[in-house]
Amino acid sequence: MAERRELAIGIDLGGTKILAALITKDGDILSNLEVETLAAKGPDVVYQQVVSSVHKLIRESQVNKNRLLGIGIAAAGVINMQNKEVIFANNTGWRNMPIGELLESEFELPVHLVNDANAAAIAERIWGAGKGAENLVYITVSTGIGAGIISDGRLITGEGDSAGEFGHISIDVNGSKCGCGNRGCLENLASGTAIAKTAKEKLRNGEYSEFFTETDSPSAEEIGKASLKGDTFSQKLLKETATYLGVGVTNMVHILNTGVIVFGGGVMNLSDILLPEIKKTVNQRGIPSMVDRVNIVKSELGMNAGVLGAVGYYFEESGDKVLASTEK
Ligand SMILES: [Zn+2]
Repeated sequence: MAERRELAIGIDLGGTKILAALITKDGDILSNLEVETLAAKGPDVVYQQVVSSVHKLIRESQVNKNRLLGIGIAAAGVINMQNKEVIFANNTGWRNMPIGELLESEFELPVHLVNDANAAAIAERIWGAGKGAENLVYITVSTGIGAGIISDGRLITGEGDSAGEFGHISIDVNGSKCGCGNRGCLENLASGTAIAKTAKEKLRNGEYSEFFTETDSPSAEEIGKASLKGDTFSQKLLKETATYLGVGVTNMVHILNTGVIVFGGGVMNLSDILLPEIKKTVNQRGIPSMVDRVNIVKSELGMNAGVLGAVGYYFEESGDKVLASTEK
């Protein structure tokens, strides 16, 4: 007797690593693995890494291929969800990459493609910190800043599947020019990259730190550690960072009247320091009746948000309605 098809494969394609996982409709990760992206070796090698990660997952988990429904893949960059194509992605070097079609013929399974921040929003809504929320925004703060928006129960993708470029809203109208063309972008003020860059500048300018000298270039993580050990320089810098994020979140709340904001990404390892300050800023600046309805929380799914969301999106697109099933 043939086994029922009930599993999907989730892939989270990042700039440094590719995560692949075998996931049930209930969001249970049965098996997972990680391979290097090898982005420096070029777009073709990245594609080969994606393919070999899936082959390896199937082999190592010894799953019967008849149980597999399909593949969901989450990727950064500009994507075309309908054509399942990555139009432009800096972290992998992909340009007009028909990843969906390629994987469909390689594995003879249906494939769906979703942006990584959107995937995380979907995952947190189905299985994570915003279970069942009709209005949820997932914000990732890592080397860059991005967002996935669910409004009135629907993923907001926009005219060119690019909605949610939260890192490129202007927070400082006269701020420095960003690669996107705008000025004073949130990403240049509050990402992990920005924290490290600002720290370096401030130290070079002679600002005193108990932990760093004027020639040091601490990472965001090191700033976080120094902050916990009582370094006022680091504490002040992270407070500024949180204020910028809070201003951005206030704008977001005013536009969307959202109910849950989930923060994820590497910089949110410092959530104990950042979240209280973000909330404080939102409370001080936001329209009270809107702010009162917002719950600002940390991601519950962490590193797995991408693979889970890729699969959640796959199920949704193939008509399995896992989102609806969580609203019982
Ligand atoms: Zn920008």
